Amino acid sequence: MANLRFQVVGEAFKKKAVAVEAPKGLTSEYFGKYVFGREQMAKYLSKETVKVIRDVIDNGATLDRDIANHVAAGMKQWAMDLGATHYTHWFQPLTDGTAEKHDSFIEYAGAPGEGVIEEFSGKLLVQQEPDASSFPSGGLRNTFEARGYSAWDPSSPAFIVDDTLCIPTVFISYTGESLDYKAPLLKALNAVDKAAVSVCQYFDKNVKKVYSYLGWEQEYFLVDEGLYATRPDLLLTGRTLVGHESAKNQQLEDHYFGAIPERVQAFMKEIEFEAYKYGIPCKTRHNEVAPNQFELAPIFGETNLASDQNLLIMSIMKRVARKHGFRVLLHEKPFAGINGSGKHNNWSLGTNTGVGLFTPGKTASENLQFVTFIVNTLMAVYKNNALLKASIMTASNAHRLGANEAPPAIISIFLGSQLSAILDKIEKNSGDEALKVDGKRKVSLGIAKLPEVLLDNTDRNRTSPFAFTGNRFEFRAVGSSANCGSAMIALNTAVAAQLKEFKTAVDAKIAKGMGKEEAIFSVLKAYIKECKAIRFDGNGYSDEWKKEAKKRGLDCETSVPKIYDAYTTKASIKMFEDCKVFTAKELEARNEVKWEIYTKKIQIEARVLGDLVLNHIIPVATRYQSMLLDNVFKISQVYGAAKAKKLAAHDNSTIEDLSEHISAVKGFVEQMVEARKVANKIKDEKKKALAYQETVLPFFDQIRYHADKLEMIVDDEMWTLPKYRELLFIR
Ligand code: ADP
Ligand code: MG
Repeated sequence: MANLRFQVVGEAFKKKAVAVEAPKGLTSEYFGKYVFGREQMAKYLSKETVKVIRDVIDNGATLDRDIANHVAAGMKQWAMDLGATHYTHWFQPLTDGTAEKHDSFIEYAGAPGEGVIEEFSGKLLVQQEPDASSFPSGGLRNTFEARGYSAWDPSSPAFIVDDTLCIPTVFISYTGESLDYKAPLLKALNAVDKAAVSVCQYFDKNVKKVYSYLGWEQEYFLVDEGLYATRPDLLLTGRTLVGHESAKNQQLEDHYFGAIPERVQAFMKEIEFEAYKYGIPCKTRHNEVAPNQFELAPIFGETNLASDQNLLIMSIMKRVARKHGFRVLLHEKPFAGINGSGKHNNWSLGTNTGVGLFTPGKTASENLQFVTFIVNTLMAVYKNNALLKASIMTASNAHRLGANEAPPAIISIFLGSQLSAILDKIEKNSGDEALKVDGKRKVSLGIAKLPEVLLDNTDRNRTSPFAFTGNRFEFRAVGSSANCGSAMIALNTAVAAQLKEFKTAVDAKIAKGMGKEEAIFSVLKAYIKECKAIRFDGNGYSDEWKKEAKKRGLDCETSVPKIYDAYTTKASIKMFEDCKVFTAKELEARNEVKWEIYTKKIQIEARVLGDLVLNHIIPVATRYQSMLLDNVFKISQVYGAAKAKKLAAHDNSTIEDLSEHISAVKGFVEQMVEARKVANKIKDEKKKALAYQETVLPFFDQIRYHADKLEMIVDDEMWTLPKYRELLFIR
């Protein structure tokens, strides 16, 4: 078996970059070729149908059966012209990732057996009933109605993967509860649109729609597939459960932005070609901080579509990686001791008139609007800091957050010194008095005259989980494997609810006779005071911050199962219900799912860890020990017992060390198994998840400590599991 390790290492070293053929023409010429977008619609649908469908997409108009039939016919023709033979409703169940069940277009032309034709009706486009019983539902389907259905989301265009037309859909139970990430995301986007438009109306009557934008940055690791296949932990859990740190890892900081290795470069190229075909505007690629860690980021887009594109690219990455002899690791913490992977969610709001609501403006009115949206976002994050943390917390992301790396498990906002100064000034001044902003220009910042705010974006803070970066906020706590939907639902809903509250407060003041701008100013001023606790520009990793954050009343909970309670507090339920995003019942059901997934993840890891120790590590350690014993025995045979004492001293102490670690590691595995048995009997999902967290998980580190010691003692030639240096430095 150790031979297998050396064999895969040897093979990995020999691998050359796979040649990648560029699609014909300029990127702009084949961009979106496999997406049923505007251009394709114009070609395959009648003018009338296009008009209706655009109205559905842009204004949420309802779609009648006739139009659906027309769209389906055009879509089918387009798909068949590109070689598609099947179709699927593509949806996003509460497991991360997507689900699909392919059906062929064929139907009997007449009576059974009399030949087939290709068919795809509006009915099939609009709605399907996948067998929903095998997807997590937190008891929603059991309690209410067994079936669920998927329904077309016309706002995200259909696309073709291989031979299959994929139709983005929401996934809901028959009684209407959402069983996925897309349905509530669409509702949250609708809520933030409505709320933001009504606030924008204070400043510009032409604003009719506010879009939520998302630009994700996907971090990932690449591991040679031979090495991957010889690590049961990577194969089954996506992360290494044992493995001694490599002597060199990221301490020299020589990987970040370094030259991209050739095999990786080929992989990235192909990912981009694929992404472009699907209309995903990949823009940036680079090495990340940890060895074999990389990043990919497209240009931002409308949140629903960007989120779909992220899911699509994650599956493209997995597929393409195989072609290049790699496996892609999307896990948040595949390797101990080096950086984990996140998926920064750059988020902003923008109007149909083309104004970015977090972009400092040119006119006074634009800047009052800018400050309004900034301050309301601060308030939303302040009030919902626990909820936002819950939206990104998972068993795997927990290894990143709160551990010694970005970002901490306390949600705070970094604004930078300039924006902070502006808010401080607004807070301290009565409003009508002229304010000065220091910096490149001296400009007055008065109630009706906010200056041209000049923000340079050099002021950066890498430790903040939620940072203002010039024209957007960057929610950095999102995990690399996550569906962006979860974070985006929480954030957009929180901001929607906050904007509604703001509007009510301002209107009340106006009703009492206060001028509009003064009313806005006075509400903002109060908000700036109220939400101060959320602003933190210091080092988020420090221990002082943990103490300080607690004093400020920010949520400091780090237990994953407990954090999910933030979804079902009175305030959260009210907020989600008011914004029509979730009902209380849905929130409770979704928490059940989260606890269940948490338990299962830890359970699987615990099993794999047990297997690694008992069947991979201990047998090797014992064999090595027996070799040493053999040697000691031979020494004493040749030199006699007295002399052997000295000559075999080193062997003897190694033998004892081995025994010590073997029995420790074995003992802990046995205790872990016992803890699991106890936890498994618990019926309540939350209590069970807690039991896994509190009584099973702690053994992981203890087991790992001794397993990694054994790795350092045992003859390298005998060790079967590829080591960290091999996993991280061979590419
Ligand atoms: P960083 O310097 O933070 O690593 P990247 O260039 O990797 O930045 O990614 C930044 C992401 O933010 C990109 O997806 C980019 O398109 C996106 N972005 C830029 N402006 C906005 C905006 N106004 N709203 C949302 N996303 C934005
Ligand atoms: Mg980046």
